[in-house]
Amino acid sequence: MKPESHVNVIVVGGGAAGLAAAAAVEQAGLSCQLLEAQARLGGRIRTVPLRSGGVFDEGAQMVNGDMHAVLGLAARAGLHLSPVPRTGIGLCLAGKQTLRSEDLISASELHDLLEDQVVRWDSPGEVLRALRLKLEWWNTPWESPGEAGRGLRFLVEKRTAPKESLAAALRALLLEAEEHAMAYSHFSEILGAAPEDIHAQAVRDIFARYASERDDLEFQIAGGMIGIVDQLASDLRHRPRLSTPVECIRATGDRVEVFAAAEVRTADHVIVAVPPPAARRITFEMDNSHELAALLASFAAGAMIKTVLVFDRAFWRLKGLSGVALFADTPGLAVVDGSSDGPFPPRLIAFLGGPLARQWAVLSQEARQDLLLSRLSHAFGEDVRSYGEIAEAVWVDHPWSGGGYNATVRVGGNPDAVCRLADWSGRVRFAGAEVDDRFWGYVEGAIHSGRSVAQQISGRAAVDVICETGSPRTA
Ligand SMILES: Cc1cc2nc3c(=O)[nH]c(=O)nc-3n(C[C@H](O)[C@H](O)[C@H](O)COP(=O)(O)OP(=O)(O)OC[C@H]3O[C@@H](n4cnc5c(N)ncnc54)[C@H](O)[C@@H]3O)c2cc1C
Repeated sequence: MKPESHVNVIVVGGGAAGLAAAAAVEQAGLSCQLLEAQARLGGRIRTVPLRSGGVFDEGAQMVNGDMHAVLGLAARAGLHLSPVPRTGIGLCLAGKQTLRSEDLISASELHDLLEDQVVRWDSPGEVLRALRLKLEWWNTPWESPGEAGRGLRFLVEKRTAPKESLAAALRALLLEAEEHAMAYSHFSEILGAAPEDIHAQAVRDIFARYASERDDLEFQIAGGMIGIVDQLASDLRHRPRLSTPVECIRATGDRVEVFAAAEVRTADHVIVAVPPPAARRITFEMDNSHELAALLASFAAGAMIKTVLVFDRAFWRLKGLSGVALFADTPGLAVVDGSSDGPFPPRLIAFLGGPLARQWAVLSQEARQDLLLSRLSHAFGEDVRSYGEIAEAVWVDHPWSGGGYNATVRVGGNPDAVCRLADWSGRVRFAGAEVDDRFWGYVEGAIHSGRSVAQQISGRAAVDVICETGSPRTA
């Protein structure tokens, strides 16, 4: 006899992945209960109002035109997509030098070069493709012996085994000093960690699977990303339980017990839609829990501080600047123009990821913002101090997500941890931005991963029902 609180599926975590999973489970005709630790839904999507009008997305904010799950939800909710402003010159700050980003290696070229490090040059097509990439990146190698020598060294060293850390992999690209510093800063920002600590192979796999050729910062959702969470939540038939942190998940034979808020619930299946650093705080009691613990321990939580500065005019545009800046002298710091096309005042958004975010997080808010303004003034001039409003979100050692943007596989971790967690089968399965195979680390990936796991379970549940009764029915 199953207890009254028994459902087909319990979903742990009410971020984008958990909400998408729960909605898909219900749509498949199964009963579902979502348990969320915090007193709100959304996880790393959190939108707050600004005094000067409009909102600040403290977590996720931007999407691109290939992120169909988010765009579909936005369309259903009637949300307006505001293009991210991009006209003007982007800057790279390298010590005393201020360079134009278009004169340096781009983020997508860098990602391609890293991915290419492990490509076997076995076919003429591969060789041609790889050489074209190098020629696009190296300026006129035929005109400079230094450049030609760099090219030759690269070709020779390419045959050696890939290094374990991302920092070593970056060094093996033999970039010019400024470009290397830019690359280091870029990866510290997007991974929220020092490249020395991140597993190169795991990062290459993420880039190889990334399902878009477009810039990831194309649009933002007017009214904030929370509109996507609201739309996902409105699809649920059964109300999520908030302030219910799950402490233990025990798989026993034909069911799973979930211990949360001094209650035990049971389900046929559990979807754990919490990021790996937060999942480490849950006790898993099942056959292969040692293997699972090693996989979860493979991830290093990111560290990120996101700050918005609101101005009465977009002074950087008057100087021909796009508002985009990457700081090689402050590893992990990047800025974009986050203004919307609505009636609200223009704004710059600063992202500081990695070890410096950890260092700044322990300072007072005032000291942190002083440091930020002094860096931003190098790029944009003293006008940057004339902001009307400033607000920040610190995603460092966050109890329910680990941090931001995401958690990445650490040096010494299992380089296949992302796939292994995504493929974890049985009655307990994993979903989330960190385990998605198409849009790793994005809201799109979280939704896609949640829906995929729900589909696997509903397929499996249908098989269970056929086995039990001999005829198909919905549970
Ligand atoms: C500053 C910042 C900026 C970002 N910018 C973008 C962007 O512009 N575009 C983009 O696509 N992505 C962005 N991201 C990444 C994106 O926010 C995440 O990848 C995505 O939201 C993760 O969704 P998730 O459901 O996998 O995890 P989460 O959103 O972390 O959800 C997990 C949920 O599980 C809950 N939980 C944890 N432990 C337990 C437990 N024991 N019991 C019950 N519940 C638990 C948490 O409270 C949380 O609600 C950004 C992230 C940050 C931090």
